[in-house]
Amino acid sequence: MNSSLKIGSVMGIPIKLHITFVLVLPMFAYIFSINPQPFGFAGVEPPTMRYALSAVASILLFASVLLHELAHSYLAKRYGVKIDSITLFLFGGVSAMEEMPKKPGQEAKMAFAGPLTSIIIGSICVSIHIYLISSNPSLSLNPVYLVFWILGSMNLILGIFNLLPAFPMDGGRVLRSLYARKMSYVKATHRAVSVGKFFAILMAIFGIFVGNLWFPLIALFIYVGASEEEQSTQTDVTLGSIRVKDIMTKNVVSVTPSMTVEDLVQFIFEKKHMGYPVMERDNLKGIVTFTDIEQVPYLERPITLISDIMTTNVISVPSNAQASDAMKLIVSKNIGRVMVVDNELLVGILSRTDLVRTLKLRLE
Ligand code: ZN
Repeated sequence: MNSSLKIGSVMGIPIKLHITFVLVLPMFAYIFSINPQPFGFAGVEPPTMRYALSAVASILLFASVLLHELAHSYLAKRYGVKIDSITLFLFGGVSAMEEMPKKPGQEAKMAFAGPLTSIIIGSICVSIHIYLISSNPSLSLNPVYLVFWILGSMNLILGIFNLLPAFPMDGGRVLRSLYARKMSYVKATHRAVSVGKFFAILMAIFGIFVGNLWFPLIALFIYVGASEEEQSTQTDVTLGSIRVKDIMTKNVVSVTPSMTVEDLVQFIFEKKHMGYPVMERDNLKGIVTFTDIEQVPYLERPITLISDIMTTNVISVPSNAQASDAMKLIVSKNIGRVMVVDNELLVGILSRTDLVRTLKLRLE
C-alpha cells in the first residue's frame, strides 16, 4: 500500500504509518496543548515546554498502541500465523495477518494479549504518577508528572474499550473463542456478531439518550465491523472446505490468438461466457475478456486480433487448491476469473460467479 510509510521493523514485522496517522499525531499534540490539566498541558509556561510535553505525550501514546499490536503479533507468530505488517491508523493499529489462528484457545489468548498489554502499561504509568505526587506533594502540579497520568489513563481506556465483547474489538474475538469451544467456528462467529450488534444498538440508544453523538458513531463502527467479520468468516470457512476442482468449469471453451475481435464478439454471443483462455494448440497464451473488447473501437474490430488485446499475464491456481484461496486471489487482483492449471496444462476455469454461487448454495 502506498498510503503507508514504513518506519522500521520489529520481530521481523514491518511497521508502517498510515497517512491518516501522520495527520493525527500533530492533532493529538495540539489537543493536549489546549486541554486543561490533568488531561492536557494548557497553561503550562513557557509555551515551548507546553508544546514539547504535548508532543512527547502523543508520541508515547502511539508507541503504546504499537506495543498493543506487537503483543497480538508476538502470540500470533508463536502460533504459526504469518504477520505481513503492522500499520498504525487514525484510531489505532491493525496487524495484517494471513489468517487468524482458528483454534479457540489460541485466538482468545492472541486477542487478549493486546488489551492486557495496554492495561499493564496503563497501571504502571498511573502507579508511577501516584507514587511521584504522594512522595513529593509540593510538586503535585509538575506538568512532567502529567505525562505519566495521561499515558496511564489513556492506556487503561484503550485496554478496557478493546475488551468490549463486540467485533471488531479484541473482546469480540475472545467471545467467539469461548463460543467456539461448544459449537462450530461459523456458528460461534454468528453468536459473537449478534452480541456485538446488540451491544452496538444499546450504545447508540444510550448516546442519543444522553445527547452524546460519539456513542452512535462508535456504535455504527462496531455494527459495520461485526457484519464484515461474519461475512469474511463465512466465506473463508465455507470455501476453505471446497477444492477448486470440485466447482471449476471443466469443459473449457478457448479461442485462438489469430481470431479477430469481431469474430470474438460473435463467439461470446453464442457461448455466453464473459472471458476465454487464449490457446495456441495446447499452450495457454493469455486470457481475453469482454472488458478487453470494449476498449477496441467498433470500426477497428474486424482488423484487430485477439493477440493484440489479450492479457498475457495469466493468473492461475492448481486444481487441488482451496476455493477460499482462489477467492482471495480474485478479490486481491480484482479480476473476474482464474485459470486452473496443473503441470502447465489448462484443466479448467473458475470465475467469481462460480464462487459466489457456491457460497450462496452452501449458506442457504
Ligand atoms: Zn487489539
